Amino acid sequence: MNEPIEKIAVLTSGGDAPGMNAAIRAVVRACTYYSVECVGVYRGYQGLIEGDFETLNARHVSNIINKGGTILKSARSLEFKTEEGRAKAYKNLKEHGIGALVLIGGDGTFTGGLKFMEEYNFPLVGIPGTIDNDIYGTDNTIGYDTALNTVVEVIDKIRDTASSHNRLFFIEVMGRDAGFIALNSGIGAGAEEILIPEKNLGLDRLVDSLNKSRANGKTSSIVVVSEGDKIGKTVFELADYITENFPIYDIRVSVLGHMQRGGSPSCFDRVLASRLGVAAVEALLDRTTGVMIGITNNQISKVELDKAIKMNNDINEELLKVAEITSI
Ligand code: ATP
Repeated sequence: MNEPIEKIAVLTSGGDAPGMNAAIRAVVRACTYYSVECVGVYRGYQGLIEGDFETLNARHVSNIINKGGTILKSARSLEFKTEEGRAKAYKNLKEHGIGALVLIGGDGTFTGGLKFMEEYNFPLVGIPGTIDNDIYGTDNTIGYDTALNTVVEVIDKIRDTASSHNRLFFIEVMGRDAGFIALNSGIGAGAEEILIPEKNLGLDRLVDSLNKSRANGKTSSIVVVSEGDKIGKTVFELADYITENFPIYDIRVSVLGHMQRGGSPSCFDRVLASRLGVAAVEALLDRTTGVMIGITNNQISKVELDKAIKMNNDINEELLKVAEITSI
């Protein structure tokens, strides 16, 4: 850890998220600013294993701040989960004179990084890049705000049809283990009911809520369902259940899917990614390693990677109350 860091590598791994490019740009330009060479690694950990590297200068990252996806590509690498795979990655990093790594990804990416750091004592820091906002130690992950805006825009459009035809729409949004997208987009789009993995509201409560909406004069309804909802039914099974038991409803299902990951990042995500990218390079140059760089209460924060991986963000009870009160 005492040798000067002359080269920093950056990679994106796991699911892509809008704003990853803005983070890459910030890492590259911070390296340039601090006179350190920046190496882009293509296809996440797989590229690390295969030595798929390219030196990036400030001009390589022109005009990418506004683009979704990741110019470095992402990949899920099974090989990196093996000791042999990680040994190849270490050999490549050493051969290229790379002294530290910036990992942009989710908790799987951080788990792999932590293992690598422990085995080889290799300096690295993580930046949270995932639309799910399910990482402990940061108020927001890169891509979450854009995904919320995308979901709200689509639900607004679906509501036009729902209200024109007096329909009940079940809309499935991403979030296998976390209901942050469902809860916040549901409030933002004025959903009548929101089903999330953290709370098992049960079918009875759903039926109750739909009946109340009807009794209150609502002729159309939107139910936002997180893909990992605890009721234990898929969005289609939920719709079938309501159709069978409450034939008064004219039901449709919409699964939003991968559109939630794409698109140009919001200004919030661009600024967040830029701040995290600069802070990541500064942390490495300060000899900080094994942490995730986040933002807490609008200040740059650092949390140990194992905490970021193992601890969970709680669902804000106040938001649940707001959802309930405003959907009357
Ligand atoms: P997202 O939240 O968007 O899914 P993620 O970073 O959690 O992003 P994963 O596919 O879970 O995405 O992990 C990315 C990569 O990290 C994997 O393809 C694998 O190469 C590496 N990785 C994950 N878990 C481990 C592990 N236990 N050991 C070594 N490497 C791992």
